[in-house]
Amino acid sequence: MLQRVRDGKTKTILVAGGAGFVGSHLCDSLLLRGNRVICVDSFLTGSKANVRPLENHPNFRLIEKDICGLFDIDEPVDQVYNLACAASPPQYQADPMHTMMTCVTGTANLLSIAERHGASFLQASTSEVYGDPEEHPQREDYRGNVSCTGPRACYDEGKRAAEALCFDMLRAGRTDARVVRIFNTYGPRMQPNDGRIVSNLLVQAISGSPLTIYGSGEQTRSFCFVTDLVAGLMALMDVDPNPGVPVNIGNPGEFTINELAEMVVAMVPTASEIVYRPLPMDDPQRRRPDISRAQQLLGWEPKIALAEGLQQTADWFISALAERGSRPKT
Ligand code: NAD
Ligand code: UDP
Repeated sequence: MLQRVRDGKTKTILVAGGAGFVGSHLCDSLLLRGNRVICVDSFLTGSKANVRPLENHPNFRLIEKDICGLFDIDEPVDQVYNLACAASPPQYQADPMHTMMTCVTGTANLLSIAERHGASFLQASTSEVYGDPEEHPQREDYRGNVSCTGPRACYDEGKRAAEALCFDMLRAGRTDARVVRIFNTYGPRMQPNDGRIVSNLLVQAISGSPLTIYGSGEQTRSFCFVTDLVAGLMALMDVDPNPGVPVNIGNPGEFTINELAEMVVAMVPTASEIVYRPLPMDDPQRRRPDISRAQQLLGWEPKIALAEGLQQTADWFISALAERGSRPKT
């Protein structure tokens, strides 16, 4: 096993998917805390712009790589966060076999790296492991209602398989693996064209295009601001001992998609009409985390209410879109 310095400040942390929406915020927070960060990303759905401000940071290293291929890191690593996977339904369904391989082979590869380095491992799982839930709110002991044949299966079943890999490695005493089940998260640095509800509605409202609602709009989601999520990820990675069970991280405030659209319309002066489009297949009807486990084990709960986080996100999109519009086309 490689030698490492184990004091809190000098840990070296591998963040797979670190150029993505959540991953780039995690890299920021780890660097701020004084850690060395190695970001591994294929830029499938992430963006170089997300990590450009970190490029010259002395504690930041960027490795462009697809986690589906075998690899190792040529310096000791203390912690591995696995956030690498497209998260937006249109993006993870664009190449479903690659999504499944990312979840299974990619997670297995990163678990092997963690094992070789004696590093702790945190897997970014998802509320999608509950599928279209028949229990509400969702507690971690609910086993879910997932279609293994539908268009979301590459992601849902891939993430379920990744959880199984983590708990097998933990039971075998091979890796200190932890699993977080992330509920819908939003905030600055979402890709404007990623197809998710918050980015779609805000971009449509800012550009004066119709706001698209799929189905009746009465389906619900619970929206967590990205800084709250990152605090939860770090708390679960750092808690001692390893709880050995999956932990939901999300904001229990539950909103219909119609309510979310109304908030966006009220917030963005250029917002146009709302139009209704067909509901995608297997779209979950209700989703809300039970976060009592995170509260008890980690002392974690979200701090940012939807209205506040949505305003920050709207402000960010307004300047990001203006900057894109004013940048000369290359
Ligand atoms: P994102 O698409 O913005 O980020 C994913 C990152 O992983 C991107 O930078 C992408 O380029 C990279 N990536 C994808 N496949 C890869 C591969 N095979 N090899 C290397 N890099 C790869 O998504 P996000 O919203 O930041 O989500 C991050 C993680 O959190 C994902 O694992 C996702 O499943 C999980 N999650 C997110 C949410 C959410 O609402 N944002 C909800 C549940 C779970
Ligand atoms: N949705 C919508 N309009 C859009 C994008 C999404 O009504 O332009 C709906 C989608 O059908 C789902 C909800 O919003 O019911 C959340 O979608 P998202 O893709 O953000 O996340 P997920 O379905 O994975 O929770």
